[in-house]
Amino acid sequence: MSKYLLSCIILVLINAACTNKANRTQIFDVHLHGDAAPEKQLSNLAANSVHTIAVSTSWAQQQIYQSNNHLTVLHGLFVPCPNGKVPYSLQTCFEDGKEWPDVNWVEQQIKEKKIDFIGEVLAQYHGISSSDTLMYPYYVLAERYNLPVGIHTGSAGPDHGCPDFKEEMGNPLLLKKALQQFPKLKVWLMHGGAPFVKECIEMMKTYPGLYADISVLNNPAIIPANDFASIMKAFIDAGLEDRLMFGTDNADVKTCIAAIEQLDFLTAKQKEKIFYQNAEMFFRGR
Ligand SMILES: [Zn+2]
Repeated sequence: MSKYLLSCIILVLINAACTNKANRTQIFDVHLHGDAAPEKQLSNLAANSVHTIAVSTSWAQQQIYQSNNHLTVLHGLFVPCPNGKVPYSLQTCFEDGKEWPDVNWVEQQIKEKKIDFIGEVLAQYHGISSSDTLMYPYYVLAERYNLPVGIHTGSAGPDHGCPDFKEEMGNPLLLKKALQQFPKLKVWLMHGGAPFVKECIEMMKTYPGLYADISVLNNPAIIPANDFASIMKAFIDAGLEDRLMFGTDNADVKTCIAAIEQLDFLTAKQKEKIFYQNAEMFFRGR
């Protein structure tokens, strides 16, 4: 084989590889928690085109999650931690075992770039609303440092280990008071507020800066595919395609991606927005 022919073949192969990569959908998972086997978890995410994750777990476990060549990691702050524990996994949230992290300590961590967002906000697991004044010192910091705030809304699964949990405290309408007090607060409503989807849509229409993630909704083991389709249709019909973000909440990433791919009323462009573009805009302003 001539040298010329060989280099042509190599060029064609490189080109094919590059095109392939460019065509692959990128994924931004805005809702992730710690796993017993973090390395396996991260390599599985990267293998499924996830390029950025927003992770929140116990403070100690969170330090294991750091950006690498394949994946950018954004770190959250669980607040408050009912009985000092992460729901479900029941790890101790903070070393001192407290439910509410010291505000000065939080500010120091923000300055040291160890906190990229406030969340998952677990007010509801504590039996209080997202507008409870106990949350205000953290909202002050979020506004001061322009950090996104991710608030758990809607239902919860079984065995979360938080006896004070109240489903009615997960109604997105309850956020109104806090948004009046902190108009620059950059919030996303986790799980699209389900079963309070109507309320979530109403809030997003009222507040143009409000985003939502669709974690759990896109998990067919919890929400049947037909219900997920109707919920997504309602968001799209309300004109909210620029503010919905993909998340797994630790469900199988392939299944969550497939749930969105199957929605045939979504255009390819809308899917790209949901998979990563809206999150890029929300977290990084681009
Ligand atoms: Zn949640």
